[in-house]
Amino acid sequence: MVIISLIPIPYRIAALTREKHALFDYPTDRLAGIIKDVGFRCTACSKCCTRAFNGHVFLLDRDVAAVRAIEPDTLEPAPDPEFCDQNGIFYVSGYALKVKNDAEGSCWFLENGRCRIYDRRFAICRIYPYMLHREPDAEGNVDWRQISGLDRHGEYNVEITNDECLAIARETMEYEHAFLAHQIAFLECVHDWFTRHRLRHVQKIYDDRMRKYRKGEPISVMVYTDGHFEKYILKPKKSLS
Ligand code: SF4
Repeated sequence: MVIISLIPIPYRIAALTREKHALFDYPTDRLAGIIKDVGFRCTACSKCCTRAFNGHVFLLDRDVAAVRAIEPDTLEPAPDPEFCDQNGIFYVSGYALKVKNDAEGSCWFLENGRCRIYDRRFAICRIYPYMLHREPDAEGNVDWRQISGLDRHGEYNVEITNDECLAIARETMEYEHAFLAHQIAFLECVHDWFTRHRLRHVQKIYDDRMRKYRKGEPISVMVYTDGHFEKYILKPKKSLS
């Protein structure tokens, strides 16, 4: 397995930039057509608002600003930081929403199966389950993926108007562009920071610190947000058992 942190940062920036160009070339009409064919409708099962089903909710800068205005304590570094320097400081590309300490890892804003900030929910929550990025399938074939969790939630073959499909497609593509731009900016910032401060990623220190974190030791994480790093002391969550 390739450890992504060991790939030189300029290579990763170049790969993400190519991805962004490929996204520019993807016709919006094609995505709108797929959305029409699939006809997905949310049934408010609330599965997608849990980490058990969906991993974390990554926040773009404008979403971070919105969270700060609603409940700032709901922010935490996105899981699985990308780098750890020789001093044991971690670096991660952004913030995620905290989850409740329940078995499913429910989003902090999920209450009685409903989002309590639904009208102000974040970019990724609005476009989900639509997406447009390239991912490997079970056999490792990389191709465009457009709908997440297909047939595992919601209902299908619902009639959606052409205008609605186009609006969803536009918002999805706008999100994917913003996400890629954020990841590129993060890598550029890390590269610059490491160069200026004579730092480097050390996988052994990453693994050692993570082991200690899992045993209960806090870690320092530099979170990339709005063009700079913010220092965050991350304490391990108490397990339910
Ligand atoms: S903010 Fe609302 S819509 Fe988004 S994951 Fe949390 S509960 Fe779900």
